[in-house]
Amino acid sequence: MQCQTVLPGIECTFWGKQGCIFSEGSCQVVVENCEGCDRIVEGTIGKVCSAYPAPVKKWTGGLCNFATHVKVEIKSEETKVNPLKASKKASGGGKKK
Ligand code: SF4
Repeated sequence: MQCQTVLPGIECTFWGKQGCIFSEGSCQVVVENCEGCDRIVEGTIGKVCSAYPAPVKKWTGGLCNFATHVKVEIKSEETKVNPLKASKKASGGGKKK
């Protein structure tokens, strides 16, 4: 339904028949880390995030995964596995029947 408080007229999954069902009944303003992000929009309470109602929570565990101005570095251990060794290992034991 459409928000009628912070971003009037904007479709929002948190707006229900009783109003905003997000915690504290409203979006929260963006935090310092959000500066420069394209998802910031101007709401009636100030700058808010168009992707998530509580920006501060997006930054508590590290970088915000929705942010457009910073890149999340994905460090995967799997890329270090030699594909040849991995396939030898996989075909090694299971074929003796
Ligand atoms: S997407 Fe993340 S960084 Fe961008 S405004 Fe929203 S919470 Fe802030």
